[in-house]
Amino acid sequence: MPLEFAVCPVCGQRLGLHEYVTPGTRVVCVNCESNLQVEARRPLRLKLVPLEATYNRNDRPESYG
Ligand SMILES: [Zn+2]
Repeated sequence: MPLEFAVCPVCGQRLGLHEYVTPGTRVVCVNCESNLQVEARRPLRLKLVPLEATYNRNDRPESYG
């Protein structure tokens, strides 16, 4: 499966992503665990997602308690 490499904008870690990722896909840096989003293809570029933007009520079962 071919991979494309992008660089984490936070720590510079090279991240291998499948070639079929599309802009908007969320990824997490394996090194610094930053929440990143695919911003562009060819060349593949990542941007940091602000922490509050990662919150999703439907996806946070730990918020109920
Ligand atoms: Zn990183």
